[in-house]
Amino acid sequence: MIHDIAPHRFDNAFSSRLPAATDVVLYYEGDRVLLCGADDAPYLPCFGDCRGIRADALQYLFCIDNIGYFLAEALPAVLPASGSLRPVAQLRTLADAVVKFAGVTGAQLQRWRESNRYCGRCGQPMAASAHERALCCPACGNTVYPKISPAVIVAVTDGEKLLMVRTKLYPQRFSLVAGYVEVGESLEQAVAREVLEETGVRIANIRYFASQPWSFSDTMMVGFTAELTGESTTAPQESEITEVRWLTPEQVPVPDSDISMGGTLIRRHLAQNGLPG
Ligand SMILES: [Zn+2]
Repeated sequence: MIHDIAPHRFDNAFSSRLPAATDVVLYYEGDRVLLCGADDAPYLPCFGDCRGIRADALQYLFCIDNIGYFLAEALPAVLPASGSLRPVAQLRTLADAVVKFAGVTGAQLQRWRESNRYCGRCGQPMAASAHERALCCPACGNTVYPKISPAVIVAVTDGEKLLMVRTKLYPQRFSLVAGYVEVGESLEQAVAREVLEETGVRIANIRYFASQPWSFSDTMMVGFTAELTGESTTAPQESEITEVRWLTPEQVPVPDSDISMGGTLIRRHLAQNGLPG
């Protein structure tokens, strides 16, 4: 999945360190990120290549191996060679696991900072904490941590058949049932509610599978498996779902990658039923 970058090591311990010339600069504008090199093999610029940016104007975010990743709030006065702003969504298909993970993780932190320039309680400008990854209001003490929204996704099976839906958002492909966790419910309750709401199906044996950060949408995606209990008759949720199907392993579309939890769960189901995932 997208956060599996071994043998590289992600270290997000808080630090107030300043950048070295070889550290990486992350700059975002809307849904675009500053990248260098060819479109099919881009790399992130290093501080030494970004002329016109002061070291103390950069915000430390995290380390991968011993390289620091710093957020810039302004475009370098002189763009690094072959540097240009490119869609963050383009990171998803990159072969380089480190550029992909660092680029999208930085985008989540940049969105958080941009969305919290002012205190939501009293309206004063927020300031970065000197002690932890947080934004603080000097006037009223309000503290805001990075936005992480928990969501669940579940592979529901009836024997070898897999429950899949087509949503109005992505009508061209089948996907697993998924949704955000609501206030006041556990992850397992969210799984059962989403399946019943979207498909009309009741489930049992809800089991945790794995979790992953999905920074494209500020999400913590938690994967589960579950089994049908009772009737297999489906009733699509009209507002969100265009089609619900119990697909045989041969009918299940093979995911184009395993960077997402959904793709990983689907590939696992295919492998368990003797098909290449
Ligand atoms: Zn305040």
